[in-house]
Amino acid sequence: MVAEVIGCGPGEIVFTGCGTESDNAAIVGAVRRRQRTNGATAALAICSAAEHHAVLHAVEHCDGVVIETDRYASIDLDALAATLGKHGQNVAVVAAMAVNNEVGSITPVAQVAALVRRLAPQAIVHSDAVQAPSWLDLRMISSHVDTLALSAHKFGGPKGTGVLMVRDGVVLEPLLYGGGQERDRRSGTHNVAGIVGLATALMLCDAERDSENHRLGGLRDRLVDRLMSALPDVIETVPGEHKVAGSAHLCIADIENEALLYLLDEAGICASAASACASGAMEPSHVLAAMGVERRWALGALRLTLGRTTTEKEIDEAAGEIIAIVGRLRGHTARQEHVR
Ligand code: PLP
Repeated sequence: MVAEVIGCGPGEIVFTGCGTESDNAAIVGAVRRRQRTNGATAALAICSAAEHHAVLHAVEHCDGVVIETDRYASIDLDALAATLGKHGQNVAVVAAMAVNNEVGSITPVAQVAALVRRLAPQAIVHSDAVQAPSWLDLRMISSHVDTLALSAHKFGGPKGTGVLMVRDGVVLEPLLYGGGQERDRRSGTHNVAGIVGLATALMLCDAERDSENHRLGGLRDRLVDRLMSALPDVIETVPGEHKVAGSAHLCIADIENEALLYLLDEAGICASAASACASGAMEPSHVLAAMGVERRWALGALRLTLGRTTTEKEIDEAAGEIIAIVGRLRGHTARQEHVR
Protein backbone atom coordinates (compact mmCIF):
# COMPACT_ATOMS: atom_id res chain seq x y z
CA MET A 1 0.00 0.00 0.00
CA VAL A 2 2.67 2.50 1.07
CA ALA A 3 4.95 1.41 -1.77
CA GLU A 4 2.17 1.74 -4.33
CA VAL A 5 1.41 5.36 -3.32
CA ILE A 6 5.09 6.30 -3.31
CA GLY A 7 5.73 4.52 -6.59
CA CYS A 8 8.33 1.96 -5.56
CA GLY A 9 8.62 -1.71 -4.69
CA PRO A 10 7.71 -2.95 -1.19
CA GLY A 11 11.36 -3.89 -0.60
CA GLU A 12 12.36 -0.27 -1.20
CA ILE A 13 10.45 0.96 1.87
CA VAL A 14 12.19 1.48 5.22
CA PHE A 15 10.01 2.54 8.16
CA THR A 16 11.64 5.06 10.49
CA GLY A 17 10.65 7.10 13.54
CA CYS A 18 10.07 10.46 11.79
CA GLY A 19 10.96 12.66 8.84
CA THR A 20 14.08 13.94 10.56
CA GLU A 21 15.38 10.41 10.94
CA SER A 22 14.62 9.62 7.29
CA ASP A 23 16.49 12.71 6.08
CA ASN A 24 19.47 12.02 8.33
CA ALA A 25 19.57 8.35 7.35
CA ALA A 26 19.78 9.35 3.67
CA ILE A 27 22.30 12.18 3.96
CA VAL A 28 24.57 11.00 6.74
CA GLY A 29 24.17 7.41 5.51
CA ALA A 30 25.26 8.34 1.96
CA VAL A 31 28.24 10.38 3.17
CA ARG A 32 29.45 7.65 5.54
CA ARG A 33 29.02 5.00 2.89
CA ARG A 34 31.09 7.00 0.42
CA GLN A 35 33.74 7.74 3.05
CA ARG A 36 33.99 4.03 3.74
CA THR A 37 34.37 3.08 0.12
CA ASN A 38 36.27 6.07 -1.34
CA GLY A 39 38.03 7.75 1.58
CA ALA A 40 37.06 10.75 3.69
CA THR A 41 37.80 13.47 1.14
CA ALA A 42 35.47 12.03 -1.45
CA ALA A 43 32.10 12.45 0.23
CA LEU A 44 30.34 15.76 -0.22
CA ALA A 45 26.72 16.47 0.71
CA ILE A 46 24.89 19.33 -1.03
CA CYS A 47 21.58 21.04 -0.35
CA SER A 48 19.97 24.48 -0.63
CA ALA A 49 19.80 27.11 2.10
CA ALA A 50 16.01 26.82 2.28
CA GLU A 51 15.87 23.13 3.23
CA HIS A 52 14.24 22.08 6.49
CA HIS A 53 16.76 21.88 9.33
CA ALA A 54 16.46 18.07 9.23
CA VAL A 55 18.37 18.27 5.94
CA LEU A 56 20.29 21.52 6.33
CA HIS A 57 21.80 20.65 9.70
CA ALA A 58 22.65 17.13 8.54
CA VAL A 59 24.48 18.55 5.49
CA GLU A 60 26.28 21.12 7.67
CA HIS A 61 27.20 18.39 10.15
CA CYS A 62 28.87 16.54 7.29
CA ASP A 63 30.76 19.74 6.26
CA GLY A 64 28.74 19.85 3.06
CA VAL A 65 27.99 22.69 0.64
CA VAL A 66 24.90 24.87 1.02
CA ILE A 67 23.68 26.43 -2.25
CA GLU A 68 21.72 29.66 -2.59
CA THR A 69 18.09 29.67 -3.70
CA ASP A 70 16.04 31.72 -6.12
CA ARG A 71 13.44 34.21 -4.83
CA TYR A 72 10.88 31.42 -4.42
CA ALA A 73 13.11 29.29 -2.18
CA SER A 74 13.96 26.78 -4.91
CA ILE A 75 17.58 25.66 -5.23
CA ASP A 76 19.49 27.85 -7.73
CA LEU A 77 20.12 25.45 -10.61
CA ASP A 78 23.07 27.43 -12.04
CA ALA A 79 24.80 27.50 -8.67
CA LEU A 80 24.11 23.79 -8.26
CA ALA A 81 25.56 23.05 -11.71
CA ALA A 82 28.69 25.07 -10.85
CA THR A 83 29.18 23.18 -7.56
CA LEU A 84 28.58 19.81 -9.22
CA GLY A 85 31.00 20.77 -12.00
CA LYS A 86 33.66 21.65 -9.44
CA HIS A 87 33.26 18.65 -7.13
CA GLY A 88 31.87 16.04 -9.61
CA GLN A 89 33.11 12.64 -8.51
CA ASN A 90 33.34 13.67 -4.85
CA VAL A 91 29.64 14.37 -4.42
CA ALA A 92 27.97 11.68 -2.30
CA VAL A 93 24.45 13.11 -2.05
CA VAL A 94 22.37 16.04 -3.29
CA ALA A 95 19.16 16.83 -1.39
CA ALA A 96 16.25 18.74 -2.92
CA MET A 97 13.03 19.17 -0.96
CA ALA A 98 9.83 18.55 -2.91
CA VAL A 99 7.80 21.26 -1.17
CA ASN A 100 9.13 23.98 1.12
CA ASN A 101 7.57 23.65 4.56
CA GLU A 102 7.42 27.38 5.18
CA VAL A 103 6.40 29.12 1.96
CA GLY A 104 4.96 26.11 0.11
CA SER A 105 7.04 26.45 -3.07
CA ILE A 106 7.57 23.40 -5.28
CA THR A 107 11.14 22.44 -6.22
CA PRO A 108 11.68 21.10 -9.75
CA VAL A 109 13.12 17.84 -8.39
CA ALA A 110 13.28 16.30 -11.88
CA GLN A 111 15.55 19.11 -13.08
CA VAL A 112 17.78 18.84 -10.02
CA ALA A 113 18.05 15.08 -10.54
CA ALA A 114 18.85 15.49 -14.25
CA LEU A 115 21.71 17.86 -13.40
CA VAL A 116 23.10 15.49 -10.80
CA ARG A 117 22.88 12.48 -13.15
CA ARG A 118 24.80 14.45 -15.80
CA LEU A 119 27.46 16.14 -13.65
CA ALA A 120 27.87 13.81 -10.65
CA PRO A 121 26.51 10.45 -11.78
CA GLN A 122 27.69 8.58 -8.72
CA ALA A 123 25.85 10.84 -6.31
CA ILE A 124 22.61 9.88 -4.60
CA VAL A 125 19.65 12.19 -5.18
CA HIS A 126 17.54 12.58 -2.04
CA SER A 127 14.20 14.35 -1.77
CA ASP A 128 12.67 15.47 1.49
CA ALA A 129 9.05 14.97 0.45
CA VAL A 130 7.67 15.43 3.96
CA GLN A 131 5.39 18.29 2.86
CA ALA A 132 4.37 16.74 -0.45
CA PRO A 133 1.85 13.88 0.01
CA SER A 134 -1.27 16.02 0.41
CA TRP A 135 -0.51 18.06 -2.71
CA LEU A 136 1.72 16.20 -5.16
CA ASP A 137 1.65 12.71 -6.66
CA LEU A 138 4.65 11.08 -4.99
CA ARG A 139 5.14 8.77 -7.98
CA MET A 140 6.17 11.81 -10.05
CA ILE A 141 8.90 12.63 -7.53
CA SER A 142 10.11 9.17 -6.60
CA SER A 143 10.73 8.27 -10.24
CA HIS A 144 13.60 10.80 -10.30
CA VAL A 145 15.33 10.12 -7.00
CA ASP A 146 17.23 7.43 -5.12
CA THR A 147 15.91 8.17 -1.65
CA LEU A 148 12.78 9.97 -0.44
CA ALA A 149 11.64 10.95 3.06
CA LEU A 150 8.09 11.12 4.47
CA SER A 151 6.61 11.74 7.90
CA ALA A 152 3.16 10.38 8.83
CA HIS A 153 1.99 13.33 10.91
CA LYS A 154 2.24 15.65 7.89
CA PHE A 155 -0.53 13.82 6.04
CA GLY A 156 -2.93 12.97 8.84
CA GLY A 157 -1.13 9.92 10.27
CA PRO A 158 0.21 9.52 13.79
CA LYS A 159 3.31 11.26 15.12
CA GLY A 160 6.41 9.12 15.54
CA THR A 161 6.43 7.26 12.20
CA GLY A 162 8.29 8.05 9.01
CA VAL A 163 9.35 6.43 5.75
CA LEU A 164 12.59 6.38 3.86
CA MET A 165 12.31 5.04 0.32
CA VAL A 166 15.66 3.54 -0.72
CA ARG A 167 15.89 2.41 -4.33
CA ASP A 168 17.22 -1.08 -4.93
CA GLY A 169 20.97 -0.98 -5.37
CA VAL A 170 21.43 2.17 -3.24
CA VAL A 171 23.53 1.39 -0.17
CA LEU A 172 23.56 3.69 2.86
CA GLU A 173 25.48 3.22 6.10
CA PRO A 174 22.73 2.74 8.70
CA LEU A 175 22.35 5.25 11.54
CA LEU A 176 21.25 2.53 13.97
CA TYR A 177 22.91 -0.82 14.62
CA GLY A 178 21.14 -3.63 16.46
CA GLY A 179 18.67 -6.31 15.47
CA GLY A 180 19.04 -5.75 11.73
CA GLN A 181 15.39 -4.94 11.04
CA GLU A 182 14.44 -3.54 7.64
CA ARG A 183 17.12 -5.68 6.01
CA ASP A 184 19.86 -4.11 8.15
CA ARG A 185 18.86 -0.65 6.97
CA ARG A 186 17.15 0.46 10.21
CA SER A 187 17.53 -1.58 13.36
CA GLY A 188 14.93 -1.27 16.11
CA THR A 189 11.50 -2.72 16.82
CA HIS A 190 8.83 -1.39 14.47
CA ASN A 191 6.06 0.93 15.64
CA VAL A 192 3.39 -1.33 14.16
CA ALA A 193 0.36 0.76 15.19
CA GLY A 194 2.08 3.86 13.83
CA ILE A 195 2.88 2.14 10.54
CA VAL A 196 -0.74 0.97 10.10
CA GLY A 197 -1.90 4.55 10.76
CA LEU A 198 0.68 5.89 8.32
CA ALA A 199 -0.41 3.49 5.59
CA THR A 200 -4.12 4.28 6.04
CA ALA A 201 -3.53 8.04 6.07
CA LEU A 202 -1.29 7.87 3.00
CA MET A 203 -3.86 5.88 1.08
CA LEU A 204 -6.67 8.32 1.95
CA CYS A 205 -4.50 11.27 1.12
CA ASP A 206 -3.64 9.78 -2.28
CA ALA A 207 -7.32 9.13 -3.04
CA GLU A 208 -8.50 12.63 -2.03
CA ARG A 209 -5.57 14.61 -3.43
CA ASP A 210 -7.06 15.82 -6.71
CA SER A 211 -10.38 16.99 -5.27
CA GLU A 212 -8.74 18.56 -2.21
CA ASN A 213 -6.19 20.38 -4.35
CA HIS A 214 -9.05 21.88 -6.33
CA ARG A 215 -11.16 22.80 -3.29
CA LEU A 216 -8.33 24.11 -1.11
CA GLY A 217 -6.62 25.97 -3.96
CA GLY A 218 -9.86 27.91 -4.43
CA LEU A 219 -10.13 28.65 -0.70
CA ARG A 220 -6.48 29.68 -0.49
CA ASP A 221 -6.94 32.14 -3.38
CA ARG A 222 -10.09 33.50 -1.74
CA LEU A 223 -8.20 34.10 1.52
CA VAL A 224 -5.17 35.71 -0.11
CA ASP A 225 -7.30 37.87 -2.44
CA ARG A 226 -9.40 39.15 0.45
CA LEU A 227 -6.38 40.00 2.58
CA MET A 228 -4.49 41.66 -0.25
CA SER A 229 -7.42 43.73 -1.42
CA ALA A 230 -8.29 44.92 2.10
CA LEU A 231 -4.77 45.58 3.41
CA PRO A 232 -2.20 47.89 1.80
CA ASP A 233 1.50 46.98 1.84
CA VAL A 234 1.09 43.20 1.77
CA ILE A 235 2.97 40.86 -0.56
CA GLU A 236 2.28 37.23 -1.38
CA THR A 237 5.70 35.70 -0.71
CA VAL A 238 5.42 33.04 -3.42
CA PRO A 239 2.72 33.38 -6.10
CA GLY A 240 0.10 30.64 -6.23
CA GLU A 241 1.35 29.06 -9.48
CA HIS A 242 4.73 28.23 -7.89
CA LYS A 243 3.42 26.48 -4.82
CA VAL A 244 1.07 23.92 -3.35
CA ALA A 245 -2.65 24.55 -2.94
CA GLY A 246 -2.90 24.59 0.86
CA SER A 247 -0.23 27.18 1.54
CA ALA A 248 -0.89 30.88 2.07
CA HIS A 249 2.17 32.94 2.98
CA LEU A 250 2.11 36.70 3.16
CA CYS A 251 4.50 39.39 4.34
CA ILE A 252 2.73 42.33 5.96
CA ALA A 253 4.80 45.49 6.25
CA ASP A 254 4.98 47.55 9.45
CA ILE A 255 3.81 44.94 11.92
CA GLU A 256 5.66 42.54 14.17
CA ASN A 257 4.39 39.05 13.61
CA GLU A 258 4.80 38.10 17.27
CA ALA A 259 2.03 40.54 18.24
CA LEU A 260 -0.04 39.41 15.26
CA LEU A 261 0.28 35.73 16.19
CA TYR A 262 -0.67 36.48 19.81
CA LEU A 263 -3.86 38.29 18.78
CA LEU A 264 -4.72 35.67 16.15
CA ASP A 265 -4.32 32.95 18.74
CA GLU A 266 -6.72 34.84 21.05
CA ALA A 267 -9.20 34.95 18.15
CA GLY A 268 -8.89 31.17 17.71
CA ILE A 269 -6.81 31.28 14.53
CA CYS A 270 -3.77 29.03 14.38
CA ALA A 271 -1.06 30.66 12.30
CA SER A 272 2.68 30.69 12.17
CA ALA A 273 5.33 33.27 11.44
CA ALA A 274 8.44 31.28 10.69
CA SER A 275 8.40 27.55 10.16
CA ALA A 276 6.28 25.83 12.80
CA CYS A 277 9.27 23.70 13.72
CA ALA A 278 11.33 26.80 14.51
CA SER A 279 8.66 29.07 15.93
CA GLY A 280 9.33 31.72 18.52
CA ALA A 281 12.18 33.27 16.57
CA MET A 282 12.25 37.06 16.22
CA GLU A 283 14.85 36.88 13.48
CA PRO A 284 13.49 36.34 9.97
CA SER A 285 13.43 32.64 9.21
CA HIS A 286 16.34 31.06 7.35
CA VAL A 287 13.98 30.40 4.43
CA LEU A 288 12.99 34.06 4.01
CA ALA A 289 16.64 35.05 4.45
CA ALA A 290 17.63 32.60 1.68
CA MET A 291 14.94 34.08 -0.59
CA GLY A 292 16.33 37.56 -0.01
CA VAL A 293 13.12 38.93 1.55
CA GLU A 294 13.93 42.30 3.16
CA ARG A 295 13.75 42.49 6.95
CA ARG A 296 10.89 45.04 6.87
CA TRP A 297 8.73 42.45 5.12
CA ALA A 298 10.15 39.31 6.71
CA LEU A 299 9.35 40.45 10.26
CA GLY A 300 5.69 40.63 9.25
CA ALA A 301 5.59 37.12 7.76
CA LEU A 302 2.32 35.24 8.19
CA ARG A 303 1.93 31.60 7.28
CA LEU A 304 -1.57 30.10 7.08
CA THR A 305 -2.04 26.48 6.12
CA LEU A 306 -5.27 24.95 4.86
CA GLY A 307 -6.14 21.28 5.18
CA ARG A 308 -8.89 18.77 4.62
CA THR A 309 -11.01 20.08 7.54
CA THR A 310 -10.84 23.74 6.40
CA THR A 311 -14.19 25.22 5.31
CA GLU A 312 -15.22 28.32 3.35
CA LYS A 313 -16.86 29.74 6.48
CA GLU A 314 -13.59 29.45 8.41
CA ILE A 315 -11.69 31.17 5.60
CA ASP A 316 -14.10 34.12 5.60
CA GLU A 317 -13.99 34.40 9.38
CA ALA A 318 -10.19 34.18 9.42
CA ALA A 319 -9.88 36.86 6.72
CA GLY A 320 -12.16 39.21 8.70
CA GLU A 321 -10.20 38.70 11.93
CA ILE A 322 -6.80 39.13 10.27
CA ILE A 323 -7.87 42.35 8.53
CA ALA A 324 -9.21 43.78 11.81
CA ILE A 325 -6.15 42.76 13.85
CA VAL A 326 -3.62 44.07 11.32
CA GLY A 327 -5.57 47.36 11.25
CA ARG A 328 -5.40 47.58 15.06
CA LEU A 329 -1.67 46.80 15.13
CA ARG A 330 -0.88 49.32 12.42
CA GLY A 331 -2.95 51.97 14.21
CA HIS A 332 -0.98 51.27 17.36
CA THR A 333 2.37 51.52 15.55
CA ALA A 334 1.29 54.78 13.88
CA ARG A 335 0.28 56.27 17.25
CA GLN A 336 3.66 55.26 18.75
CA GLU A 337 5.48 56.90 15.82
CA HIS A 338 3.37 60.07 16.36
CA VAL A 339 4.24 60.26 20.10
CA ARG A 340 7.96 59.93 19.31
N1 PLP B 1 11.18 18.00 6.48
C1 PLP B 1 10.19 18.89 6.34
C2 PLP B 1 10.02 19.57 5.01
C3 PLP B 1 9.33 19.18 7.40
O1 PLP B 1 8.35 20.07 7.24
C4 PLP B 1 9.52 18.52 8.64
C5 PLP B 1 8.68 18.83 9.79
O2 PLP B 1 7.97 19.81 9.82
C6 PLP B 1 10.55 17.57 8.72
C7 PLP B 1 11.37 17.34 7.63
C8 PLP B 1 10.79 16.81 9.97
O3 PLP B 1 9.81 15.82 10.14
P1 PLP B 1 9.53 15.19 11.57
O4 PLP B 1 8.82 16.23 12.36
O5 PLP B 1 8.68 14.00 11.32
O6 PLP B 1 10.85 14.84 12.16
